[in-house]
Amino acid sequence: MRLIKLLYPPKNKCILCGIKDPNLLCHICSASIPFIHERKCLKCGKGLSEGYAENICPDCLKENFSFHSAYSCFYYTGKGKELIHKLKYEGKLQVAGILAEYMAHEIKFENIHADILVPVPIHQKKLEKRGFNQARLICEHLSEILGIPMWDCLIRTRDTREQFGLDKAARKLNVIGAFSVNMLYNVNNKRILLIDDVYTTGSTVDECSKVLLASGAEKIYVLTAAAGINT
Ligand SMILES: [Zn+2]
Ligand SMILES: [Zn+2]
Repeated sequence: MRLIKLLYPPKNKCILCGIKDPNLLCHICSASIPFIHERKCLKCGKGLSEGYAENICPDCLKENFSFHSAYSCFYYTGKGKELIHKLKYEGKLQVAGILAEYMAHEIKFENIHADILVPVPIHQKKLEKRGFNQARLICEHLSEILGIPMWDCLIRTRDTREQFGLDKAARKLNVIGAFSVNMLYNVNNKRILLIDDVYTTGSTVDECSKVLLASGAEKIYVLTAAAGINT
């Protein structure tokens, strides 16, 4: 049996549908990823509805986000959501590489130039439970693709409850004071590209942006693989 396996190694399978494919994602699944094709909000990067005249979405008009602008590749739904779940909850770490490819493409397309990449941290307790920080894994790949150094300089000082299921106001409260900057890093005058897996209301990345700006960072851009659908 072992010999047969050696002679005929099992072909790679698509990570989403399981069909035999030399790539990690078959072309049918990759074509089903709900990429954001419509005109995007200049602040949060979510798609603007057709006929909407402004360049900033209604949500962002109400907010006063500290980050300069955010970018996402696809919506957190369907195959896009499945992909994130494979990484985050099933530990299929190879998915981080696929996400990073999409994200690198997005940031090149938007012509964003950053000095450093910073992953959104998870709390030590969560890190021990999950074994990895998905944002950091994605960030490592991105750093390699873009040739921009990664600084893991944010610390999650407080374990927050999952943002999932919380409304916008509760999400904001949930992350206040949850981050700090590791003083071993000097972010002064740095243009930072903050990396996370999913952008929902923006409260997590905004809180990270605030502490980085307070530590002297020049400008914060945000890049996530997926953007949550507004509820
Ligand atoms: Zn597939
Ligand atoms: Zn917006």
